[in-house]
Amino acid sequence: MQTSAPGKDADLAISLPNGRVKCTACARYCEIPEGKIGLCGVRGVVNNKLRLFVYGRVMAGHVDPIEKKPVTHYMPASDIYSLATTGCNWLCAYCQNYDISQRRKVEGVEMTPQQVAEAAAGQGAQGIAYTYNEPSIFIEFARDCGVEAHKRGIFNIFVSNGYDTPESVKTMGEFLDCITVDFKGSGKQEFVRRYIGIPNADPIYQTLQEIKSKTKIHVEITDLIVPQVGDDLDSARKLCKFVYEELGPETPIHFLRFHPDYKMMEFDSTPIQTLEKHHAIAKETGLQYAYLGNVPGHPLEHTYCPECNKVAVGRYGFSITSWNLDAQNRCKDCGHPIPIIGTVRKARKTRFQFIS
Ligand code: SF4
Ligand SMILES: [Zn+2]
Repeated sequence: MQTSAPGKDADLAISLPNGRVKCTACARYCEIPEGKIGLCGVRGVVNNKLRLFVYGRVMAGHVDPIEKKPVTHYMPASDIYSLATTGCNWLCAYCQNYDISQRRKVEGVEMTPQQVAEAAAGQGAQGIAYTYNEPSIFIEFARDCGVEAHKRGIFNIFVSNGYDTPESVKTMGEFLDCITVDFKGSGKQEFVRRYIGIPNADPIYQTLQEIKSKTKIHVEITDLIVPQVGDDLDSARKLCKFVYEELGPETPIHFLRFHPDYKMMEFDSTPIQTLEKHHAIAKETGLQYAYLGNVPGHPLEHTYCPECNKVAVGRYGFSITSWNLDAQNRCKDCGHPIPIIGTVRKARKTRFQFIS
């Protein structure tokens, strides 16, 4: 039966015997009756089929540095076309993008996957990031854009909360090159329940194991450290131990400074010393590439060679300020291989400046 509902029928869905449709795009696994929508607000049941209402509706579409995602070990200094839709499967009280993520309306510019890839290419981007809201909720649209992007030599990145499923990871494996998975408050249960609206962080850990074991996607981890309520060091230890044991000691991990926003305006920004304590835990655990984020000018923004401890890649905010690697991305001082995929793009004059 034809439908006049916006969007396109979704693939990640299972029809249930009770007449509902179960969405398998994220770990909420909403079981949705006819005429209703899931928690994210963009997937609902129409004529007994799950429909992605925001397929082809783009809320954001502009170019960012890849380091802003943050991604530091994949295609450094690339320009990234960032794309979002409305909706989200999380309800973060601190969301900086709440204006689009917490909108439960179908809005945005109409664009086909081909037009998205053309727009990215036309703006000189080397990659597309599906970001600002959780991309798993619009994964069928992201996949179709990603396939078009690959045809044009453009790579694909998810900036994801990791609250995904084996089904969505399988789809990611078809088109995704890189993912940065955002923990918040190190995944501490009390924090994620109260400030995000999920029971626990277990699905995020499962998603990472699934990505690692079944795909070749490059993975980076971020952790937003929120003062007083999301800065627990034991939770950070648990997260770092997991990353070390399950993903490997070379996995980059970024501890991000919180800034007050949305419903958490009464909180202060994260003290620098708190971030430094988290960084120290990562290093004690054996993680070789730990970073602080949202603290421009801090020495722990740099990439250090784990062998000789010299600055391998100098950074300031989202800019690269020095590149002390040879053509094979080995440390120029000691020859240690630094696991960065791709070499720095020197063409980007506006944001890339060598100081050495
Ligand atoms: S993507 Fe949306 S509809 Fe699907 S399970 Fe998650 S919140 Fe529910
Ligand atoms: Zn070195």
